[in-house]
Amino acid sequence: MDLPFEQFPALSALGICRHVFTQRIPGIDVSHDKAEVLNRLDTAHREICNAIGVGDWPLFTAEQIHGNKIAVVDSLTQFQSRLPRLSPSARGEDEGEGFERTRRESTLTLPLSLVEGEATQDARGHAKIPAKTEIPERGEVEFPGSDGIITNQHGMALGVYAADCCAVYIVDPKTPAIGLVHSGRKGTELGVVTNAIKQMIDRFGSDPANMIVQLSPCILPPHYEVDFAAEIVRQCHALGVKEIHDSGGCTACDLDRYYSYRAEKGKTGRMLALIGLNPTIAN
Ligand SMILES: [Zn+2]
Repeated sequence: MDLPFEQFPALSALGICRHVFTQRIPGIDVSHDKAEVLNRLDTAHREICNAIGVGDWPLFTAEQIHGNKIAVVDSLTQFQSRLPRLSPSARGEDEGEGFERTRRESTLTLPLSLVEGEATQDARGHAKIPAKTEIPERGEVEFPGSDGIITNQHGMALGVYAADCCAVYIVDPKTPAIGLVHSGRKGTELGVVTNAIKQMIDRFGSDPANMIVQLSPCILPPHYEVDFAAEIVRQCHALGVKEIHDSGGCTACDLDRYYSYRAEKGKTGRMLALIGLNPTIAN
C-alpha cells in the first residue's frame, strides 16, 4: 500500500524530531461525521506513524474545540500507568477513573489542569508499506478543552487533526521543546498559537528567537474569506519568532491531496499532523 504524507524540510533539517502531515488516504469513504471518519482513517494513520518511526510512541492529542487552551506535558510520570509503552502491564484492563474506551485503543480523558494559553516547501513522502503491517500498541491521551499541546519530553508524539484549519508546528531546538497547535479562523482570532509560544517561554524557558515555526497547508482565500494563515505568521513575528515557514498550500484547491471541510461541506476526512522529539540516547 502506498500511503501519502508530507514532511517539511525545515523540520526534517533539525535532526532532533520526527514529524508528519498525512494527506488524503485513497480508497477510504470519509463522507461521515468526525468520529467515524477518524475511526476509518486510524489504520492508515498508524501505518504512516509506523513508517516514520513513531508507531510505538505514546500519542497526545487535543479535543480541538476551536479555543485557545494549551495543554502542557512536562513529565510522563503522571501517565505512566496508562501508556502501554511505558508500562506494558497496564494496558486498559485495570484502567482507573477517567478512562474511557473510544475509537482507537484506549483514550484517556484527563481532568488535567489546562493553562491559558498554527509552511514552504513540502516534500512529498510516500511510505512503502508491506502488505501485512505489524502495528505496534500505542497509548493515547486526549486533553479535553484544548487546541494545542506543548512538551519538553522525548519519545512521545503530539497530534492534531485538520481539514482546512492550520496545524502549526513549533520547535525550539535549543531547550529543546516543541508545540503543536490546531488554529483555524476562530482559534487564530483567540490567539491559540500566541498562547502556545508564551507557554513554551514560561514553562520551558524557550526563546522565540530560537524557534522554528512551520504552518501546514490550510484553506486560503479565495476559497475562504479570511487569511488566518497570514495572521498566524503575524502573531509569531510579533512574539519575536524569526524563522517561520508557511507551506502555502490551500486544502480546498487540491482535493486529490487534502481533505477540505469547506469544499466538501463538512463530510470529509482529516489530515493528522504529528511531531515528537527523538528519544534521548540512554547511557
Ligand atoms: Zn484554495
